[in-house]
Amino acid sequence: MEPEEIQNSEKVINGIAVSPGIAIGAVLVIGRKFAKIIERSITPDEVEFQITKFQEALDTTRAQIRALQQNLNETLKEKHSSIFDAHLLITQDKMVIDEVEAATKKELKNIDYIFDRIMKKYIAAIASMPDDYIRERVGDFRDVSSRIIANMHGGHDKQFDSLPGQRIIVAHDLTPSDTASLDRENVLALATEVGSRTSHTAIMARSMEIPAVVGISADDLNIGSGDIIIVDGYKGLLITNPKPATLEIYARRETREEEIHDEILKESTLRPETVDRFRIQLAANMELPEDLAAAIKYGAAGIGLFRTEYLYINRTEPPSVEEQFLIYKDLVEKLNGYPLIIRTFDLGGDKLSSITEEATHIDPNPFLGCRAIRLHLDFPELLPQQIRAILMASAYGDVKVMFPMITCMDEMGQLNGLVESEKRELRSKGIAYNEEMEIGIMIETPSAALIADKLAKKVDFFSIGTNDLVQYTLAVDRGNEKVAYLYQPSHPAILSLIKSVTEAAYENGIWVSVCGEMAGDPRYIPLLVGMGIHELSMSASSIGPVRRLIRRLYMHDSEKLLEEALKASTADEVLDLTEGLLYEIAPDIMSMAYLGE
Ligand code: PEP
Ligand code: MG
Repeated sequence: MEPEEIQNSEKVINGIAVSPGIAIGAVLVIGRKFAKIIERSITPDEVEFQITKFQEALDTTRAQIRALQQNLNETLKEKHSSIFDAHLLITQDKMVIDEVEAATKKELKNIDYIFDRIMKKYIAAIASMPDDYIRERVGDFRDVSSRIIANMHGGHDKQFDSLPGQRIIVAHDLTPSDTASLDRENVLALATEVGSRTSHTAIMARSMEIPAVVGISADDLNIGSGDIIIVDGYKGLLITNPKPATLEIYARRETREEEIHDEILKESTLRPETVDRFRIQLAANMELPEDLAAAIKYGAAGIGLFRTEYLYINRTEPPSVEEQFLIYKDLVEKLNGYPLIIRTFDLGGDKLSSITEEATHIDPNPFLGCRAIRLHLDFPELLPQQIRAILMASAYGDVKVMFPMITCMDEMGQLNGLVESEKRELRSKGIAYNEEMEIGIMIETPSAALIADKLAKKVDFFSIGTNDLVQYTLAVDRGNEKVAYLYQPSHPAILSLIKSVTEAAYENGIWVSVCGEMAGDPRYIPLLVGMGIHELSMSASSIGPVRRLIRRLYMHDSEKLLEEALKASTADEVLDLTEGLLYEIAPDIMSMAYLGE
């Protein structure tokens, strides 16, 4: 929808589209940064919703006060906790509650504004009392009032795993561990201030098929929990206070989206090959074991990247060898002969776990510090244990191991040594594993890309991690929305690195894939096909559109396009070339892509 179609009093906020889809629903605001009280009109239909929001905030506040009271009882004397009895009484004051609800119905204004106004009136009256004792109660009223307002605005503690119903989560930031613990059934969409297309929260949202927009400005957002908003994950828009006409337009788009989705699903058994019969393997990336179902549903020919670090997040003890083995074995068995590429844990950067806390949480420059295989120095047990579990699972299907963040040959020597020593250990105990299990590495640092010809002699495959390759080559934090404009996968420097890595793979007879977000973005597909990449691995939900696109491409056109693109001197010139082709052969796919920025 174009902005002019949206009527005046509603507000359209621009962000960066990071996960496609449309969501219409009630907001749950996380974090106090958004807790502003703005007077606004509501429709009679919204009254009930507002009152429920108020009642929920009162319940939450009571629960919080009781929890505080209990903690205090354990550590301090009984009499101190009686302060909280007074606070509890305020939250139960029928006179105030009735007055707030009646005024909301009568004036048709948002309930947080009405509540704030009424509380201020009582606070002023109490403050003018002659009795000292009563006057001192002002602090209690202020305290409880701001707690209730914060709760109406979602300022209470993060509670992602059990939402009060279906909600659109709006937050300043969501860490990958927050996102991993989301109550998937009830999250309609995500919108955050912080983030970018390749931040891990965005990647997870795509895996979970949850529409998401990042880079929204808190200053533009005057919303509270319970408000109805629209999230447009295609164009990167949030629409607050939507008019009925806008809601109708978006409801129609939602239906259309479901139809396209069903059409694409029907194509999931078609061969991903160009018109002139060049086959490209399409695999899925996954973060959590439950993502496998979507990979199979969309017809992935295996898992090209299992981000196992999520097995270490949101827990204090690492998963045991046995626990990991059972997970990997179960996955590869369900893949029915298709490969499962298990990437060893890539903790650090923005993916933090309390298990590796002592190294990662104090890292002054996390993306350049103790990340991934570098953690082996601080935690010498973790990597060998994971390698052992992977080897054990290799006896049950086509399991491959992949190491992230490689920068030099020494690392490769050490890692191959670790695999050998774990093999020896298993052999000595008579435990089965696949002696031929393939070992691959991610090419995601400029140094690895530049010595790819040497690395290729030590491994069985390369998987190009463009998310980090772009970050490290262009010196742009992949998760920072402020520099998102500089994060350009089509930058000539990136194209030339991918090309030379692919050539090194071909020259050394190993296969090469791309598993960064470029692999699922239609704009880069003709270029990657033209380079001769063997496999593209992406969020499962991107497989359908990418398969459809590949089936409309000719290899010779893709090669010609690549040749032109390699002569370009800017990222935009490259995009103009690819988009020119795509709007010609695949306008339907372009309209499904989430290109809004
Ligand atoms: C990458 O860097 O491109 C990649 C696939 O790994 P991650 O996004 O997990 O860093
Ligand atoms: Mg990476």
